[in-house]
Amino acid sequence: MRKVFRDDHEMFREQARRFIEREIVPHLEHWESQGIVPKEVWLKAGEAGLLCSTVPEEYGGPGGDYGHSAVMIEELARVNATAVGFTTHSEIVANYIVAYGSEEQKQRWLPGMVSGEIIGVLGLSEPSIGSDLRSMRTQFKRDGDGYRISGQKTFITNGRNADLVVTAGKLDLNEKKLTLLCVETDREGFAKGRLLSKIGLKGQDTSELFFDDVHVPKENLLGEEDKGFGYLFHQLAWERLIIAIRAATCIEAMLEETLEYVKTRTVFDRTVFDFQNTQFKLAEAKAQVTMLRAFVDDCLAKVMVDELTGEEAAMAKLVGSEMQGKLLDEFLQLHGGYGFMSEYRVSRAWVDARVARIYGGTSEIMKQIIAKAM
Ligand SMILES: Cc1cc2nc3c(=O)[nH]c(=O)nc-3n(C[C@H](O)[C@H](O)[C@H](O)COP(=O)(O)OP(=O)(O)OC[C@H]3O[C@@H](n4cnc5c(N)ncnc54)[C@H](O)[C@@H]3O)c2cc1C
Repeated sequence: MRKVFRDDHEMFREQARRFIEREIVPHLEHWESQGIVPKEVWLKAGEAGLLCSTVPEEYGGPGGDYGHSAVMIEELARVNATAVGFTTHSEIVANYIVAYGSEEQKQRWLPGMVSGEIIGVLGLSEPSIGSDLRSMRTQFKRDGDGYRISGQKTFITNGRNADLVVTAGKLDLNEKKLTLLCVETDREGFAKGRLLSKIGLKGQDTSELFFDDVHVPKENLLGEEDKGFGYLFHQLAWERLIIAIRAATCIEAMLEETLEYVKTRTVFDRTVFDFQNTQFKLAEAKAQVTMLRAFVDDCLAKVMVDELTGEEAAMAKLVGSEMQGKLLDEFLQLHGGYGFMSEYRVSRAWVDARVARIYGGTSEIMKQIIAKAM
């Protein structure tokens, strides 16, 4: 048992694993063909107590900690079900509301997010900006008792299923300060764009969102005006650690699967594992992922006591996602032609892993963050 987890985390893992094996794994291929996970699955996960691990009990949540969050993230990654967008909803959007929401906002949205009735999304990226959030063009105008929103977001995870968008924009486009607003998707002027066609994470409904002079009351302001960057900075560290946790789990799962494959596949009268090249590749992979896991668990222990720095999270994401890309490519190679077949999990894991070096901040941005702290 890993030191970072307690008995209650491991019990939760059993529960999560059973649910994922029963309600998710058998349907993944179908959802990939549809480009979306049906809302009923969210409701089932909510009923099973698997959404929004860290939401306190007073708002209907399980009242867990980041250890429970990590368990759920790992269990989804283990079976390559990252396309199921629970994590963005449960571990990112809900966290913003818990951390910065007013009492009234928490009462209004969190119970529905816990039950899966309200699906939350985070809308930061725009067609012309992703890395450079300071150049955001979405405009928030003060208007009587609230705000009017004009702008467009893109690449938004869970975008088609969305019921509530935590979005960022500017009160003054000439300034760099960001403000966060919560927008219910049934408001006039709000529209969802097309389901974006992607090379991987095909079951995830990634979409554009449009705000055409959408009015929200002042009660939808999250935290304080112009403080958005501080909020993002704090939350992005956890978001990046999530990607590193997934990377470590995915590598471990695919290493196990590859080992099983090479020990049974026979070539030139011996198993693929009998070649020294295979043994060395897998030994290197084992050594690397063991080191990654130690650092990621250390970061997880830190996030549990609110001590994870942006720099540590950037290092975990950079090394984890780059290692994932490199090792999955080698695992696929060891499968030969079967590695290129969609029915083999390694092929889908390889494609899905590509985005880990891009979203949540690209590898180049991670290097920038690390260098800045030197
Ligand atoms: C599947 C998927 C899901 C996503 N989900 C969400 C979501 O839910 N919500 C959301 O808001 N966004 C989401 N995103 C967007 C994602 O966060 C951005 O794509 C990412 O931050 C990169 O921004 P960009 O695409 O605009 O690339 P750009 O910023 O245009 O970068 C292009 C290239 O320039 C490089 N570059 C940029 N700045 C520098 C620099 N200073 N130094 C060196 N190189 C640099 C980048 O590393 C990259 O290689 C998602 C993206 C994908 C693909």
